Amino acid sequence: MGFCPECGAEYGSEVVACPRCRAVLVAEPPDTSGEPEVVYRVPDAAAGALLLGVLEHHGIPAFLRTATLPGYGSVRRDWGTSAWGEILAGRGGAAEARAVIADYLAALERGGSVRDEDVEGTGDGEGGA
Ligand SMILES: [Zn+2]
Repeated sequence: MGFCPECGAEYGSEVVACPRCRAVLVAEPPDTSGEPEVVYRVPDAAAGALLLGVLEHHGIPAFLRTATLPGYGSVRRDWGTSAWGEILAGRGGAAEARAVIADYLAALERGGSVRDEDVEGTGDGEGGA
């Protein structure tokens, strides 16, 4: 068994170097705990800002990476995606970020608009009177 130190891919013992990164494999998987991962691909800037705000509201550190290069119009980086951009979160918060976004999108489909209760997940029951 070997792991690529660049991308973290795992290979069998017959492989000595990562064909993608051309890096010689190492015995231990690389520590990628601090690296962000893509949690959601967004179609436009408005959606990106909206979802970032939702994550921020939940205290999940996340940021937006756009597929277009600043100053180059619609020229896209080669990320194999047609999305406008991607929301990334640290590995520690990525699962939570995905769950929050999924909840948010589900609430959007349900009611057309999202209330704080939907986002907070504390909206069970009518409450009060
Ligand atoms: Zn690699």
